[in-house]
Amino acid sequence: VPELPEVETVRRGLQQATSNLAIAGGDVLLDRAIAYPQSASDFIAAIAGLKVAQWYRRGKYLLARLDRPDAETPDPGELVPTPHGWLGVHLRMTGQLLWLPRHTELQKHARVRLFFPQERELRFVDQRTFGQMWWIPPDTDPAAIVTGLQQLGPEPFSADFSTDYLVRRCRNRTRPIKNALLDQRLVAGAGNIYADETLFLSRVRPTKPCGELSEGQIETIRANLVKVLQQAIAAGGTTFSSFLDVQGINGNYAGMAWTYGRAGKPCRICGRAIERIKLAGRSSHFCPRCQSL
Ligand SMILES: [Zn+2]
Repeated sequence: VPELPEVETVRRGLQQATSNLAIAGGDVLLDRAIAYPQSASDFIAAIAGLKVAQWYRRGKYLLARLDRPDAETPDPGELVPTPHGWLGVHLRMTGQLLWLPRHTELQKHARVRLFFPQERELRFVDQRTFGQMWWIPPDTDPAAIVTGLQQLGPEPFSADFSTDYLVRRCRNRTRPIKNALLDQRLVAGAGNIYADETLFLSRVRPTKPCGELSEGQIETIRANLVKVLQQAIAAGGTTFSSFLDVQGINGNYAGMAWTYGRAGKPCRICGRAIERIKLAGRSSHFCPRCQSL
């Protein structure tokens, strides 16, 4: 499942490949890949002829601000209503956005094709078909159409994701800290692998009830989460899944994971076997010796 660093890696690739290029048209191969508007042909008609001005990421949502091809509109800097609308994408479980020559043979799971000049194409490939695309009409709040945006907590790199904020949200809560870190309403985009790595670096058990963490531990967890996400972005995402960036290249974060995907293997610090348990329906990995807090 693509997590924040993978989605940020895709955003950077999309920005490099498509910014300031006009969408010449497209082809929807699976209608339900288009979440809005209802008609896939209306979706293509709405975005055709507009250029991609700027790609944003919010949590695991990707949003492109659209503009007239000749316009140089100042960047509004956040997800706000704009005169030419937005294009939204969520990759969900298996979605991939690939930047390809248009003649590239259609993959079995190709769902949407967006055509660009010089015979290039942005192709949405999605085996499990949970991925979605939206057109956000002019002068419309993106969150009114992409309703999942309304529920998202602060971005981990933003000032809103402060120790004070986390302390407030952990107070008197009995749920395990691992479950809290996976909750997109608490913090946007911190998924399973990075939550496990964060708790290892913080020496905290995934099962620790939030309300029993000290303020110092909460600050450590916050700082480590930011650190592991930044390191993963710097490494270009993970290799643990079928994740590919827009050029079709695997990232390499998983090669240096402390606990994620290492159940039964020796801890890189103390040698004790890494344990795996289920929390919030997901596998959690931890070292029983190093994570004693
Ligand atoms: Zn250990």
